[in-house]
Amino acid sequence: MLNFLALLVASRRSVDESNHEQGEDPLNDVIIIGSGCAGLTAAIYAGRANLKPIVIDGFEPGGQLSLTTMVENFPGFPDGILGPDLIENMRKQAQRFGADFKAGAITDVDLSKRPFKIATGKEVFETRALIIASGASARMIGLESERKLVGYGVSTCATCDGYFFRGKEIAVVGGGDTAMEEANFLSKFASRVTVLHRRPEFRASKIMVDRARGNEKIRLVTPVVVEDISDVAKGGVENVRLRNTQTNEITNLAVEGVFVAIGHEPNTKSYRGQLDMDENGYLITHDGSQTNVPGVFAAGDVQDHHYRQAVTAAGSGCMAAIDAEKFLDARKDV
Ligand code: NAP
Repeated sequence: MLNFLALLVASRRSVDESNHEQGEDPLNDVIIIGSGCAGLTAAIYAGRANLKPIVIDGFEPGGQLSLTTMVENFPGFPDGILGPDLIENMRKQAQRFGADFKAGAITDVDLSKRPFKIATGKEVFETRALIIASGASARMIGLESERKLVGYGVSTCATCDGYFFRGKEIAVVGGGDTAMEEANFLSKFASRVTVLHRRPEFRASKIMVDRARGNEKIRLVTPVVVEDISDVAKGGVENVRLRNTQTNEITNLAVEGVFVAIGHEPNTKSYRGQLDMDENGYLITHDGSQTNVPGVFAAGDVQDHHYRQAVTAAGSGCMAAIDAEKFLDARKDV
């Protein structure tokens, strides 16, 4: 736990100085952590409720939508809309209603009593209500070579990096819908895409697997795990070493890119011991968006490992803002 008191004194001094001129209260009504679809929708609703929300951008401003290309299933866009454009529109919409965006990620939170304290580096914010919409981040295989080669041939975002692999052979690791979707997308650029999955059966829906099977550039290889990616010394991907999980046979696959698509981890580390979570670290909500701490609400992928859609994240962001507004209306104390 950070030394909140020292940080708070320093932070209050600078906030007081700047707010003094504007005649504002340094205590905020609502802080929203995360600026993806859920956080931005919460900001639009909280802004329209005149709660002057502060939005802390987080490690990945814009969330997962900002890493995608065309979004075809968000209602209201018959021809689809680019993910970054959708996010930018939502951000402008939130700003129009008074949302104040702060760059950076949170370093610590104290939810033991209200007002809650949120630290972002040297700055500490105090808030009467908190909406956590910090999303989920890509899961990694956990290899040292993978970590060293991220950005040098290893990627977690096909739509961001696929373009760099024109005419090259690449591998996609994973057996879920994301892996199938990424393989299909990458087949537009790569000469061949090999999907590597650890079990003979795929987790992905049948339609997605069938689509991948029907794509002549995609090859599905199971049951294998990636044991190593080389060549770290050369600073680029040349080969993956595979182990068959049934026979233990080792094979090598020459590829120039590895896309890791094995799911996501919720960004909830800062709330451990303070908020109830399931066994995978997703925040547990009840009665709409409420967590176990009154005044703390959660929205989007940080509390949803099932639907994970832009529209469901937006819907839950709306719910969290309405729940926060009702909570504040009922409590005029702090
Ligand atoms: P997911 O469904 O959790 O699948 C993750 C895959 O990665 C699984 O096949 C899993 O293997 C494998 N995996 C996990 N950890 C691994 C490890 N350490 N090493 C090797 N393999 C590992 O995740 P997702 O594919 O990202 O999908 C998440 C959710 O979004 C799902 O509900 C999905 O339906 C949805 N989604 C939908 C669409 C769409 O409909 N267009 C597109 C993308 C995602 P096991 O199967 O053996 O556990």
